[in-house]
Amino acid sequence: MPDTHAVHYHVAVSSVAGHYFHVSQTIYQPTPQGQKLTLPAWIPGSYMIRDFAKNIVSIQAYDSDNNRLDIEKLDKQSWQVAATAGLLRVETLIYAFDLSVRSAFISDEYAFFNGTSVFLQAVGVDGSISVDITIPTEKALTWQIATALKQTSSNDITKQFSAKDYTQLIDQPVVIGNLTAHQFELEGVTFEFVLAGDNLADVPRICQDLKKICLHHLHLFSPPCPVDRYVFITLLCENGFGGLEHMDSTVLQYARHALPSEHEKGKVSDEYRTFLSLCSHELFHTWHVKRTKPQAFIDMQLSAEVYSEQLWIYEGFTSYVDDISLLRTKLIDENSYLELLGQTLTRLARNPGNTKQTVTESSFDAWTRFYQQDASAANNIVSYYAKGCEIALCLDLKMRLGSQHKYTIFDLIDKLWQEFGSQSIGTQNNSIQYLLDKHFDLDLDAFLQDALYSTKALPTDILLREFGVKLIYRPRNNGSDKGGKPADDHLKVDFGAMTSAQPTGVKITQVIENSTSYIAGLQVGDIVIAIDNWQIQQQNLHAILDKQAFNKIVPVHLLREGKLTELKLSIQPAKRDTVYLQIIDEQKAHAWLGQSE
Ligand SMILES: [Zn+2]
Repeated sequence: MPDTHAVHYHVAVSSVAGHYFHVSQTIYQPTPQGQKLTLPAWIPGSYMIRDFAKNIVSIQAYDSDNNRLDIEKLDKQSWQVAATAGLLRVETLIYAFDLSVRSAFISDEYAFFNGTSVFLQAVGVDGSISVDITIPTEKALTWQIATALKQTSSNDITKQFSAKDYTQLIDQPVVIGNLTAHQFELEGVTFEFVLAGDNLADVPRICQDLKKICLHHLHLFSPPCPVDRYVFITLLCENGFGGLEHMDSTVLQYARHALPSEHEKGKVSDEYRTFLSLCSHELFHTWHVKRTKPQAFIDMQLSAEVYSEQLWIYEGFTSYVDDISLLRTKLIDENSYLELLGQTLTRLARNPGNTKQTVTESSFDAWTRFYQQDASAANNIVSYYAKGCEIALCLDLKMRLGSQHKYTIFDLIDKLWQEFGSQSIGTQNNSIQYLLDKHFDLDLDAFLQDALYSTKALPTDILLREFGVKLIYRPRNNGSDKGGKPADDHLKVDFGAMTSAQPTGVKITQVIENSTSYIAGLQVGDIVIAIDNWQIQQQNLHAILDKQAFNKIVPVHLLREGKLTELKLSIQPAKRDTVYLQIIDEQKAHAWLGQSE
């Protein structure tokens, strides 16, 4: 029976044990000179070339009479099929065993895919697309399908969906599996919350909390809301963390036991707070980066890198909004929020790269630097998430001060949506400056020039002080101290290197520039076995260091490339590289932190 769509795909799990998806693709009117097929090299929101086509195990093409057609491989991700007069059918087998939000994965609990991993694009064939997705027969009674794709019909184990074009198709990930699903409606939008995989989570409670975040974000932006249905898909795993934004959904990856159970009512654990922040972050992206986005991201190619210096606007603002939204919705209190902000500022304080790379350079080079970090990353690059968050904080406080508390960063974000996102106009590198001048009569050009194009320190402490909050530096209190909180006790002696446990000694995994370890000549990969002739283990490293007198020179014994080596370590006081924030004027702090929806 002829299809009104231009292309039809049928996706099935062909082997759980082998982790294979089988995709059958029908192109009703292939290009007459022979059809070109291609698969994206990357997935929007995750700025790294991933070469999804490497997982295509086999590909065959057939004409309408079921005769095999020749296929020529053109490059790592493109194929040319011989010309055929009638319809063209392409069969692909795709290996799917990457448990992340970015690719595709099949196990006995669930099968998950992004369209960028499984749907070959028929180049030059425009028009709508239909998709059949089949649940494996042996899972027919227990597995369901969740996706933001529009369902058109259902037939036992096969469900039919449609998409208006290829771009929409590949931005609607699908999970098939053992699902826990809840649904709620807010202001005309249907939200679905889906957990994939076994769990003991208190889903009604999570949805209750999520509703507050959804409502908060709906109210941040001028109507109309760009979605009428939105799906939160969470892939549960033992350990793992991730989130990726899509047009009408998000896929999160989270540790299944980190979600609250029925016995944890009322308490927001650190892990649950992180989960709520992740949901807040990804939902905010529905407006801010999926629709309001850099000019370069409009109709962007997925075959190679697309560069933008503006990721600080999109990930930085989002990193500021995600946490502060939890405070504005009263899911967490002021101290809890200031702890999160203090942790972000701590990451920057421990990051010598903050004085070497600007936030706009970090954005532009995301492909090769932020997304491909090695042990030198902390020394040489800055995160456009963390630095962008600090810039957003400063902008928010400056807007409030400059307008006698009339405007906030949320007004700026909504103007971005109104003038760019909702009009499908991409933002320029100076769009923030343009909007500040046009709508808020604020000239923050000098601040932004420094913040975006230099590595000068931001005036964060001065601005926070204006809002009754003091920024305090202290040494860390143990090797895993993330900051954000005051500490009764702290480390006395600087080490300046990160380590991991070894059967004997500790392995150096990172050396911070200009720290005592750096000056002593320690390098990544060294296995330190003794300091001051005392045997070192992961548990006693700091205890032994802390007993040493300042300015003493002690021997460090280590194995480097299998050779015993001795270095000299000069004992120096621990650096004040850990930030926490303290409210010193409740009334002033309230002007910033007390405003809620
Ligand atoms: Zn993000």
